[in-house]
Amino acid sequence: MRVLLVEDDPMIGEAIQEALKDASYATDWVKNGQTALNTIACQNYDIILLDLGLPGKDGLEVLNVTRAKDNPVPLLIITARDGLDDRIRGLDGGADDYVLKPFEMTELLARMRAVLRRKGGIASPYFTNGLVSLDPATREATVNAGGPIQLSSREFALLQALLVRPGAILSRSDLEDRIYGWGEEVESNAVDFLIHALRKKLGSEVIKNVRGVGWMVLKNG
Ligand code: CA
Repeated sequence: MRVLLVEDDPMIGEAIQEALKDASYATDWVKNGQTALNTIACQNYDIILLDLGLPGKDGLEVLNVTRAKDNPVPLLIITARDGLDDRIRGLDGGADDYVLKPFEMTELLARMRAVLRRKGGIASPYFTNGLVSLDPATREATVNAGGPIQLSSREFALLQALLVRPGAILSRSDLEDRIYGWGEEVESNAVDFLIHALRKKLGSEVIKNVRGVGWMVLKNG
C-alpha cells in the first residue's frame, strides 16, 4: 500500500516514515500543502496522513481541495491536542479519522488499518479471497485455513496489493508502485523474485500469472 505523509515537522515526519516502512507501506513524504496537492494530483495513494498546521497551504485547505475534486482517498488527520475546532472541521470536511499528537505509532497504524477497512467496506480485519488470508496486524498469511505463515515486509506488501482487489490484474509497475516509496531503489526482477518467494511459502496456486499482463489472486480462490 502506498501512503502519502504530509508533515512539516522533521522529527515527527521521520518517526512516522520509519514506522510506516517497518509496517510494509511504501511511503512518500512531503512537507508543505502545495506539494501535497501536486503529488495527490499525479499519484494514486491508498491512504493519506495529513498534518493540519503546514506552511503555505494548511492541511484543511489540502483536504478541502482534495475532496472538492471528488477524490475519495482514505485520509487521516494528525494534529495537536489543542485544535478541537480544526479536528471538527477536518471530519466535517471529509477526513476519515484523526490521531492526536503525541501518539504511539502502534495507534496510528491501527487507525490506518481501521480506516482502510471501513473505506473498503470490509468488516473483517483480514484481507482474503477465500483461499489465502492476510492479517495486516501481524503480516501473517494462511492458506486454506492452515497454520500462519510469516511473510517478509515486501512479500506482505505485494500480496496485500493483490488481495485488496481479488480478480484484478496488476502489472509489474502497479506492484512496484505499491511496494516502493520515493527514493527506494527498485531492484530489477524484484517483483518476480517476490512472487517466486510467495509461491514457495504459500503454494503455487495462490498467485496467478496472466502472461504478458501481470498477476492476480482469484476472486473466489
Ligand atoms: Ca505541523
